[in-house]
Amino acid sequence: MPQYHIWTTGCQMNKAESERLGNRLEELGYQATDAIEEADLIVLNSCVVRKSAESRVLNKLDALKTLKRAQPQKTLALTGCLVSEIDQLEKSYPHVDYFFKPGDIPPWLAMPDCTPVPPRNASVCAFVPIIQGCDNFCSYCIVPYRRGRERSRPVDDIMCEVAALVRRGVKEITLLGQNVDSYGHDLPEKPDLADLLAGLNGVDGLARIRFLTNHPKDMSPRLIEAVATLDKVCEQISLPAQSGSDPVLEAMRRGYSAAQYRSLVEMMRRRIPGLALSTDIIVGFPGESDSQFQETFDLLEELKFDVVHVAAYSPRPGTIAARELEDDVPGPVKKERLDRVERLQETVAATINQQLAGEAVEVLVEEKTKGRWQGRTRTGKLVFFDHEEDCQGRLVKVRVARTSPWSLQGEIKTTSQGG
Ligand code: SAH
Ligand code: SF4
Repeated sequence: MPQYHIWTTGCQMNKAESERLGNRLEELGYQATDAIEEADLIVLNSCVVRKSAESRVLNKLDALKTLKRAQPQKTLALTGCLVSEIDQLEKSYPHVDYFFKPGDIPPWLAMPDCTPVPPRNASVCAFVPIIQGCDNFCSYCIVPYRRGRERSRPVDDIMCEVAALVRRGVKEITLLGQNVDSYGHDLPEKPDLADLLAGLNGVDGLARIRFLTNHPKDMSPRLIEAVATLDKVCEQISLPAQSGSDPVLEAMRRGYSAAQYRSLVEMMRRRIPGLALSTDIIVGFPGESDSQFQETFDLLEELKFDVVHVAAYSPRPGTIAARELEDDVPGPVKKERLDRVERLQETVAATINQQLAGEAVEVLVEEKTKGRWQGRTRTGKLVFFDHEEDCQGRLVKVRVARTSPWSLQGEIKTTSQGG
C-alpha cells in the first residue's frame, strides 16, 4: 500500500484542508505515515501569514531537496498559501513535482464535488470549510492575495457533508472561513450564516456547532440572534479586534473604531449569556506609539477575553502596509508589548476560569491522552478528567475541581449518550 505524509502549518483552514486531502488519499488506497522518509507521497501545506511561518516552510522545502535527490521516486507536492505564482515556484523548487492552490484538490485526486468524505478515524470533532478567500484587504494581510476573493460553498453541499460526517460519528463541527460571518453573499439565493446555522441545527445526531473566524464589520444582529437561540450553536465567538487604537485601526483598514468594537461586544454579551469571546491582536504595527499600544492593552483589560492570539507585526511583501508604511517599531519594543499582552491574558484567563471552580460543566469528550479523558465545554474550555468507561463522543457533566489559565480538571458526575 502506498504511504503518504502531510506536513501542515498555519490556521484551522489549512488543518481542515489537510484532513480532507488525507481522506481522499485514503479513499484511493494510501495509508498515512508519521515518518516522512517512508512516505511515497509527501505534501507540504504551507502558511505565509507571518514571516516565521514562511521561514519554516522554506526550511522544510530545502530539507526535502536532499531526500528527493536520494529517492527521486518519491512524489513531492506543495499546497497552501505559499502557492500563488506556480510558474515561479516551478523554477525555484524544481524538486517539487506538483503545486496546487490552497483548498484545491489536485487533478490527479479530483472527485465529484459533493462526495461526502468520511473522516479517517473515529474523530468526534470535524472542521468544515464553508467560505474560501477574503475580500477585505486589511493593509497588513497577505491572505486575500494568496487565497483570492470570497467564494461560498452552497448550503446543500455543506448540509450533505455534515450529514455524512454525523453518520460516521462526528458530534461537533466547526465551520471555517477567513471571514466566516460574510458567508453567502456571493451565492444566488444570498443565504447568510444565520440561515446555514438554522439548517445545521436540525441535523439529528449533531451535538454542537461552532464557527470561525469573524470580521466585526460582518457580525450581524441576525447572526447574534442565531447564536442566542439555536441550541446546538455554542456560546463561543471569535472576534479579532487587532488593535484598540483608532488611528492604528484606520491604518490597518479594519473598517471599525474601538468604540464600535466595544459596543458590538456589549450587544453580543447582553444577548448571549455566558458567551466566551476570543480575539486576535497585532502589536508593533507601523507607527504604533506607546500610548496607542496602551489603548489596545486597556481594551483587553476591560473586555476580558477568554482567549487572545497575539502576534508581532511582520511586513508581508505585496501588502499595502509593506509597500507604504515603514516597519518602524523596533523588535525589542514589539517583543515587550507582546509579552505584556500575554502576561495580562494569563491573569484574565485565570480569573475567568477560577469562576468555574465547583460548577458542573457539559463536556463533549474527544479522546484519551496520557490516561486521562479530554474534552471541551460549550465555551471551548479544555477539560481533563478520569473515568474507567469509554467516554469518547459522549456528552458528560463534569464538576470542576481545579482550574488554570489554560484548562480545567474535574470529576465526572453523570454520563449520557452524546447527541
Ligand atoms: N481573518 C482573520 C484572521 C486572518 S490571519 C481576521 O480578520 O482577523 C490570522 C491572524 O494573523 C490575524 O488575525 C492577525 O492577527 C495575524 N496577522 C496577519 N497578518 C499579519 C502580519 N503581517 N503580521 C503579524 N500578524 C499578522
Ligand atoms: Fe486578512 Fe483582514 Fe481578510 Fe482577515 S479580514 S483574512 S486579516 S484581509
